[in-house]
Order: sequence, then structure tokens, then C-alpha cells
Amino acid sequence: MNSREIAKNRLVEFGIKPSLQRLAIMEYLMNHSTHPTADMIFNDLFPSMPTLSKTTVYNTLRLLAGEGAILSLSIDEKNVRYDGDISNHAHFKCKKCGCLYDLPVEGMNSIHVENKGNLLITECHLYYKGFCERCKSEIV
Ligand SMILES: [Zn+2]
Ligand SMILES: [Zn+2]
Repeated sequence: MNSREIAKNRLVEFGIKPSLQRLAIMEYLMNHSTHPTADMIFNDLFPSMPTLSKTTVYNTLRLLAGEGAILSLSIDEKNVRYDGDISNHAHFKCKKCGCLYDLPVEGMNSIHVENKGNLLITECHLYYKGFCERCKSEIV
């Protein structure tokens, strides 16, 4: 299966009609683990998709995240970051250079939380912040 087909399967799995632009954005997110912003995605896709607009990128990301096909991360105060990896994992953001890494977590779903209001929890985000390897050496 090529990456376009994998992206198509993800959209279909979440009940999203796979238009050409939705496919391109989904495929981009699955192939880039950089947790890009909407602007980064637009800037990378635009040269090969001149009909793409920023509004379409924003709307598509909102749709995909709303349906659960991608993750929308609020770890960055300035920009929403997006993630095509919807498996359970934590995120680390460097406070100096802003890079964003995945951190594998064991048992992220089984952290004991008292569910007082019998809430239906559909998402769990775990964010860590600090300094990356490169930036760490510059501050000490
Ligand atoms: Zn850094
Ligand atoms: Zn991630």
C-alpha cells in the first residue's frame, strides 16, 4: 500500500469523504512527524497544488481533528500543531527553539484519574516542556 492509499483508508475509517485536498493533507501529516502548523502544511503543499487555499487547509484540519482522524495539539501557545499519529503518546516541546518531539508513554490510558461526573473521555493529552539536547547545552 502506498502512502496515498494509507491516507485514504484513514479518512474512510473516520467517515470522511476523501477529496483530493483532504487526501493530500492527511498524507502530509502521516509522512511528517514534525507536528506542523496549518501554515507549514500550506507552504509545503501549495507549490504542487496551486488551487489550494489557506482557508481550505484550516477547515480541513479542523474537520479531520474534529472527527478524530488526526490530533490537534495545544502544546504551542502561539500555533495549533497537528499530528497524523493518533496512537497514545506524549509530546515534548523545547521552550527555546520550539521543536516538538514524540515521547512514547507506557500505560497512558491507564493513568488513574477519578472520573467524578461519569464523563465520556475521548482524548488525553500529555505535554512536557523543557530544553532539547541542542538548546540545553546553550543555557547551562
Ligand atoms: Zn531546542
Ligand atoms: Zn506526536
